Amino acid sequence: MSIDSLIRNTIRSDVLAIPGYHVADASGFIKLDAMENPYPLPEHLATELATRLANVALNRYPVASYASVKERICKQLGVPAGYDVLLGNGSDELISILDMACARQDRRAVVLAPLPTFVMYARSAQFAGMDFVGVPLKDDLTLDLPAMLAAIAQHKPALVYLSYPNNPTGNLFSEQDVVAIIEALGDTGLAVVDEAYEPFAQQSFMGRLPEFDNLVVMRTVSKLGLAGIRLGYMSAAPKLLEQFDKVRPPYNVNVLTQVAAEFALDNIDVLNQQAAILREQRALLAEALAAVPGVQVFPSAANFILVRVPDADAANAYLLSRKVLVKNVGKMHSVLANCLRITVSTPDENAAFLEAFKASQAA
Ligand code: PMP
Repeated sequence: MSIDSLIRNTIRSDVLAIPGYHVADASGFIKLDAMENPYPLPEHLATELATRLANVALNRYPVASYASVKERICKQLGVPAGYDVLLGNGSDELISILDMACARQDRRAVVLAPLPTFVMYARSAQFAGMDFVGVPLKDDLTLDLPAMLAAIAQHKPALVYLSYPNNPTGNLFSEQDVVAIIEALGDTGLAVVDEAYEPFAQQSFMGRLPEFDNLVVMRTVSKLGLAGIRLGYMSAAPKLLEQFDKVRPPYNVNVLTQVAAEFALDNIDVLNQQAAILREQRALLAEALAAVPGVQVFPSAANFILVRVPDADAANAYLLSRKVLVKNVGKMHSVLANCLRITVSTPDENAAFLEAFKASQAA
């Protein structure tokens, strides 16, 4: 038996054909590539959390309903009355739950999204056996609404993902355009508004859930400062959520995550304050970047900034040589030619990045 023929005989050809989800090794780098909150929990809170975690019954499965953490999320994070949430191991898992639930077998199911956007929408659709249709953004990175509506009419997607604000462009699509898409889908498709960056945009469709039966609002605690605990939540009409819940793997959110999430909700002011600092830093960093000759800065409602430089590969190579890690998205899509995505960080890290970035442009 050869392992190669075993793999050829068992693994799907479309899986064989793609590279793995690449995560750069960041040790020793100023890490501005993954939209993390750079601030750790304050020490006194970390100590308190350790005590709470020490009391967790690791020998037991998590409480399957997650009732307590779900109640807290609903109450504290703006979920409308009468609406529940479904929890996931990061919002990545919520995306695959949605796709699995909608990947009907009697005809080819379609996932549609503007492009460029968060890569997992296409990947997860592929893994669920769905077709992915991408509709290019306009050159100014806004939604091409007529093209979106035409694609919806043509492909009748089961799911349309809208990252709000969009990753990797950072901009917030127009609220009217999003509503037009939700309405165009009617009772043939679901609009998933992915609010991963809501703490930095402070605009949300969560409160509008009661207006639209086909709206799903998804969020994560990752960008708020808890990327390590892997917790995403989504809300939708209760009857819809009930269906999604059937495909959720049992016990998908572990007890340590549940306890850490409740602890974070007890101390949400600390995280909100950190987000406020990052919003201020975003404005300062955008201003400083705009002052660098030859650099185009795109508007951001997220905790990262997209810039266009004359040569993104050269700038990225220089930044790497200075131990600064940003995301070179220049090859991701033609509208992103020569673009870099930079996560907003602490004043010190932003200053160190800026110094290296300016040198990269002067070189
Ligand atoms: N949605 C968007 C738009 C994202 O950018 C990301 C993370 N890059 C995610 C979802 C995934 O977040 P999580 O850490 O909750 O899996």
